Amino acid sequence: MAKCGATTKAGGRCQRKVVTGTPRCPVHQGPLSAYGVAQRKEKEARARKRTLRKKR
Ligand SMILES: [Zn+2]
Repeated sequence: MAKCGATTKAGGRCQRKVVTGTPRCPVHQGPLSAYGVAQRKEKEARARKRTLRKKR
């Protein structure tokens, strides 16, 4: 698997493995990437399910 390679705050290269189908690791994907959006949707879906359970 390829490595992310993004520049870190410390000035080095990120050694995390990339997410399949993308050039970056989860940390360096950014919130607007396909991966970030999918993660957010999943979280929202879980939060909604919890809310429904509480109401009933
Ligand atoms: Zn990275």
